Amino acid sequence: MNQAVEAAQQAFKSWSRTPKRERSDILMKLADEIEKHSDELIAAESKDNGKPKWLAQAVDIPRAPENFRFFATAILHFNSEIHEMDGQALNYTLRQPIGVAGCISPWNLPLYLLTWKVAPALAAGNTVVAKPSEVTPMTAFIFSKICQKAGLPKGILNIVHGTGEKVGDPLTRHPDVPIISFTGGTETGGKIASATAPLFKKLSLEMGGKNPNIIFSDAEFDNAVEMAVKASFSNQGQICLCGSRLFVQEDIYDKFKSDFLEKTRNLVVGDPRDNSSNLGAIVSKQHMEKILSKIEQARDEGGKVLTGGKRLQLDGELKNGYYIEPTIIEGLPADCQTNHEEIFGPVVSMIPFKSEEDVISMANSTRYGLSASIFTSDVSRAHRVASAIDSGIVWVNTWLLRDLRIPFGGMKSSGIGREGGFNSLQFFTESKNVCIKI
Ligand code: NAD
Repeated sequence: MNQAVEAAQQAFKSWSRTPKRERSDILMKLADEIEKHSDELIAAESKDNGKPKWLAQAVDIPRAPENFRFFATAILHFNSEIHEMDGQALNYTLRQPIGVAGCISPWNLPLYLLTWKVAPALAAGNTVVAKPSEVTPMTAFIFSKICQKAGLPKGILNIVHGTGEKVGDPLTRHPDVPIISFTGGTETGGKIASATAPLFKKLSLEMGGKNPNIIFSDAEFDNAVEMAVKASFSNQGQICLCGSRLFVQEDIYDKFKSDFLEKTRNLVVGDPRDNSSNLGAIVSKQHMEKILSKIEQARDEGGKVLTGGKRLQLDGELKNGYYIEPTIIEGLPADCQTNHEEIFGPVVSMIPFKSEEDVISMANSTRYGLSASIFTSDVSRAHRVASAIDSGIVWVNTWLLRDLRIPFGGMKSSGIGREGGFNSLQFFTESKNVCIKI
């Protein structure tokens, strides 16, 4: 890791002075090269993580070249402000690259989130030491070979594999790494915040969530059910934005429950290589055990498991795989542990509500504030509730519809700072004001 920081520091001298247009061309070329290796990356992501291959093909892997193209072109349009002082003076803001950026990413969307950080950091003229998750290192390793093949200048991107303790922690404490971008769990984010605070590093934290999915009785019913299934179980529920608390208004609760249950029971958990598998495997044995223990906790708290709730044993060579049935729980109060702690698995808790006021209060009652979804056909209500919910992202009548330009991130214990679009470029640059007396 120390050698990687040294190499990055050395490379910063020339990369930070490389014209934007040239940096952009290099990153565009890298995007093309990633695309040429799509098949290999898709197979590796699915095998390493357990996610269905079709999902890696539709979402994870296409996002890697997209991230590079997006920021390679964004940097060409990135601008800064001028503040003119009534003829007395002119202030202009320079936005300069900072130095070696430490980029630490999780296992749930391995290449997608790694490139989401690396691309803006490099486009802005920084060099990078990246630490992918030790749980899913494979696509980052293949990516490092692709970077060499694409002729990425030496030292600008250094990928160091290892555990959080051995590589991540020293990276955050390294005196020559002034900026850290982290995506992962809230507990880890807390450790990074304490490690970096005395060193006054620039810090972006994208952390956990316990996102509310709110269905009002005037919602377009079929769309709400379909989206609830996606928000609960996509990627085996291992997306920070999953809607793990499903609030449904009392007058449609029974009908919603019955349709939601039926659709969930139809989901196929199976071989990740099979196109017919809706869900694949949980990422690791340790994580599977954590999810199962959270289901037990829900039972202990008085929750009723409506469907799922168990490990699933597949046939043949996958019989020891880490599969969990999509699980729906009901009957728990909004303030119990199950409804407050992130589970990060295919588990959703259904909670009925009476009024708009009640549901806003329950939705805001956790320490998290990453995202929320609201389903309603009342436009005024959509605006009112969106404004009242404590979260960085609110979707109305949809879920996980992403535009790469928007400010992305969470409130409260879900995050500090925003990534995405020019927010990322602002984060990865330092503003400097120059005041000229006229
Ligand atoms: P994690 O916190 O265990 O690990 C994330 C990364 O941090 C890994 O690379 C890990 O090695 C590293 N790390 C661990 N300890 C460290 C330390 N002390 N110092 C520096 N680095 C350290 O998270 P995970 O289990 O890989 O990912 C799941 C979590 O990520 C969930 O909580 C999920 O909500 C969150 N997540 C958030 C977002 C978001 O955008 N907000 C996106 C995806 C995942």
